[in-house]
Amino acid sequence: MTKFEALGLKQSILNAISDLGFESPSEVQEKAIPILLESETDLVALAQTGTGKTAAFGFPLIQKIDSASRTTQGLILSPTRELCLQITNELTLYSKYEKGVNVVAIYGGASITDQARQIKRGAQIVVATPGRMKDMIGRGLVDISKIDYCILDEADEMLNMGFMEDIKDILSNTPKEKSTWLFSATMPREVSVIAKKFMHSPQEITVGTKNSGATTVQHEYYVVGGRDRYPALKRLADTNPDIFSVIFCRTKRDTQKVAEKLIEDGYNAGALHGDLSQNQRDLVMNSFRKKQIQMLVATDVAARGIDVDDITHVINYQLPDEIETYTHRSGRTGRAGKSGISMVIITKSELRKIKAIENKIQQAFISKKIPTGMEICEIQLYHLANKIKDTKINEEVDNYLPAINDVLQGIDREELIKKIISVEFTRFFNYYNKTQDLNTPDSRDRGDREERGRSRDGDSRIPADGNVRYFINVGEKDGYDWMTLKDFLRDTVNLGQDDIFKVDVKESFSFFNTDASATEAILKTFTEFKVDGRFVNVEVSKSPGGGGGGGGRGRRDRSRSGGGRDSRDNDRNKGRRRDRSDSKGSSASSSGKRRTKRKSDSY
Ligand code: ADP
Ligand code: MG
Repeated sequence: MTKFEALGLKQSILNAISDLGFESPSEVQEKAIPILLESETDLVALAQTGTGKTAAFGFPLIQKIDSASRTTQGLILSPTRELCLQITNELTLYSKYEKGVNVVAIYGGASITDQARQIKRGAQIVVATPGRMKDMIGRGLVDISKIDYCILDEADEMLNMGFMEDIKDILSNTPKEKSTWLFSATMPREVSVIAKKFMHSPQEITVGTKNSGATTVQHEYYVVGGRDRYPALKRLADTNPDIFSVIFCRTKRDTQKVAEKLIEDGYNAGALHGDLSQNQRDLVMNSFRKKQIQMLVATDVAARGIDVDDITHVINYQLPDEIETYTHRSGRTGRAGKSGISMVIITKSELRKIKAIENKIQQAFISKKIPTGMEICEIQLYHLANKIKDTKINEEVDNYLPAINDVLQGIDREELIKKIISVEFTRFFNYYNKTQDLNTPDSRDRGDREERGRSRDGDSRIPADGNVRYFINVGEKDGYDWMTLKDFLRDTVNLGQDDIFKVDVKESFSFFNTDASATEAILKTFTEFKVDGRFVNVEVSKSPGGGGGGGGRGRRDRSRSGGGRDSRDNDRNKGRRRDRSDSKGSSASSSGKRRTKRKSDSY
């Protein structure tokens, strides 16, 4: 196997590489680095996302610039702020043993004067988004008239985002005799146009097949009715308890909606789209990187900057308009040599699009079925059993063992196992027990993007006539919000996920609705029912069915850190307030929610 030593890199960079833990060059690095080190040439390099393109241009660039001079010698254009920052960080690591190398990131949404000041201090390398770069050139805040190297990173994405004119403008401000290195995952027509117009007989390297998705990614599609997209998504998530995924929607609005629903349903989800402030996006991304968010719901534009290595699944909640976009989406998984799955939820009428994508990516899709409720229960059951088996025992437990033994005395091993498993299993069972197969496409299916009305097993159930409203004498001051109260009621009365709705928590009391069929069980349960020595009392409310319940609904969120969904429905002690102290992840998601603007979607 080739080693970095064989590529012609100098010792200081080799040392930095060894600190990074890179053992051997990736294919694109192996091909590009010697060419770029040996000659002053233009280069077009095509390689999938996650193949290590940053280092493929970064190492040679660091080696070639003159660190003794403060003139800007290298310009890297990159599509998003996130990528700019990533590249800047990487280059800083690559050059950690070089003296005086200064890499500065230039991007929109941050103070232009601060950035100008950093440039003024002397930056041999500038990493910029096209928009901000153009702006700074226009104001004379940056001088790129003496650069030797111009790198167009993720060129296809930049052009996808409409930066063609900006790029042309910027390049016209650079000297003719520089070298231009273009890196891209795909080679759409616009990229060839740029290459033709601005590059001189570039050498070309291609890693893997041109325009193909990464081969480590398996592509699957699931045909469902247009209204069943959301329940299907939930099932896919429940089938993969350790999922760490990006879910793509077409519009900001759908993105926000799906994220909100997931959060409401107890998943560690977050939204990433252009209506969020930069700060909110950063929060969401940080939570995602830390895996506090397991399901990141994103628009294509907002997801451009995502470079997270361990994504297990990409889920196309809706297919993109452009086939090219699909390649970018699926490229978010299967990175750094790992395998990944790209799932597409589609309606029957969209099936033909699958063929078109297959042609593009030169890879076949596997047609899969959304698992049935019972299949999911089974998966969750084994997952839980394995998790218990693999859990490392916390020795601190020893201190409490005598007390725990007291509580559990008289329960034999088998019964105890059943109880432990039921903690989680009952929740899934109750939820999925009554649900239908989602794989039968609705014959009237029109492929609607919006889920209207009642979803088959969604949580957003609109009560039919014949529901009953109740009064309960606990409220916010007892530590409940609509979510915890709903959980409490559901567990205490042993009802399903969908059985309680319109929960409206007030200061010292609350209201909720159920179907009339549950009334008997509820009233029976709350006869002489005490929590912490206090009577909890439920009465059928005089106020007519369920008005005003929506007030608090969905505003509070319950995504939580660490334990994730697994802690979602532990068999709480009845009535004991459950701590749902919000994590950073949730603040990101909830703040996003508040900011949702219902203006037209840009995508
Ligand atoms: P691309 O730009 O092609 O999408 P990146 O340059 O962002 O890919 O690299 C993807 C990931 O692979 C990064 O986490 C990077 O640190 C890692 N990586 C790059 N080159 C190597 C290597 N030679 N060995 C191990 N990991 C590498
Ligand atoms: Mg890259």
